[in-house]
Amino acid sequence: MDAPNQNSFPRPRIGSERTLNRMAEKRADKDWVAERLGRETSRFLLLTDLSLAVDSNTDKSETNLRWHTRKEIEKLTADIDTAYLLGCDADDRAVFAVSLSPAQAVAAPGGIDALKPLVDLRSLAMQEALSPEDLSLAAVGRALAAWHATTKCCGRCGGHTRSRDAGWRRKCWACGQEFFPRADPAIIVLITDGERCLLGHHKRYAHKFYSTLAGFVEPGEDIEACVRREMREETGITIGEVTYMASQPWPFPHLLMVGCWAEALTTELTLEEEELHDARWFTRDDVLQMMAGEHPEGFSVPGNHSIAHSLIMSFVEKDK
Ligand SMILES: [Zn+2]
Repeated sequence: MDAPNQNSFPRPRIGSERTLNRMAEKRADKDWVAERLGRETSRFLLLTDLSLAVDSNTDKSETNLRWHTRKEIEKLTADIDTAYLLGCDADDRAVFAVSLSPAQAVAAPGGIDALKPLVDLRSLAMQEALSPEDLSLAAVGRALAAWHATTKCCGRCGGHTRSRDAGWRRKCWACGQEFFPRADPAIIVLITDGERCLLGHHKRYAHKFYSTLAGFVEPGEDIEACVRREMREETGITIGEVTYMASQPWPFPHLLMVGCWAEALTTELTLEEEELHDARWFTRDDVLQMMAGEHPEGFSVPGNHSIAHSLIMSFVEKDK
């Protein structure tokens, strides 16, 4: 199997931001963080129950994340010391995210209405409304906010944990156990027999929507073994060569999607119907019609926010 050249692989929109300096070496420097928290040029992203406020023009053709100043954040009663440092942008402005719980949002001046319109990041990604930079920053902020929301207690002794290192570590006050935000690896796979690719329709998908197949990497398993196991379980296909193409952070809540091409050694399908409602082989012409919204049966594929789209696009463009 000849997989496409990795250098020409189309980049997905989430995770394509390359101008953010994450400033990992400064996170534990309390003086540096305090000074950046106080600077007028620093920008703050507010997450309310993991959703984001946006500003759109009147015909909604343009949407931007709503960035706040420190003064605005303090007015909304958010505790500035709980801000997470996302990094510094290309203009050396520090970028922070602050998370409000639903109770804090209701208690804010003007109530939750003052924070609206609140939009889920997945919807924003699917609408392709934000710039790749804003989308990627929001993805880091959301992943961190979700991690803090579920790591408040120590998994070892049950004590309370407290945020450290500008939001990149939590420490148990009782036993000293430390916790760090993780990314869980998952595989996402373009299976091909050379002429066709295999796309599936999951029960949770919109009607007539088909995408590449995915699964979680288990402890003790490498990427290639995971691809072969998951694809055999879901479709009955025996996989030969597996080629890594690219990866994408997927902050729902904290996955790292590892995108691969996989060679199908067999083509007969035996579907795991509990999860996968349907899977079919599609030719390049089929996929082009699906991408253009012109497929005769009304089938569609993911938009360009996702690595699924990049994998499907790389199949369409291969050997063109
Ligand atoms: Zn503990």
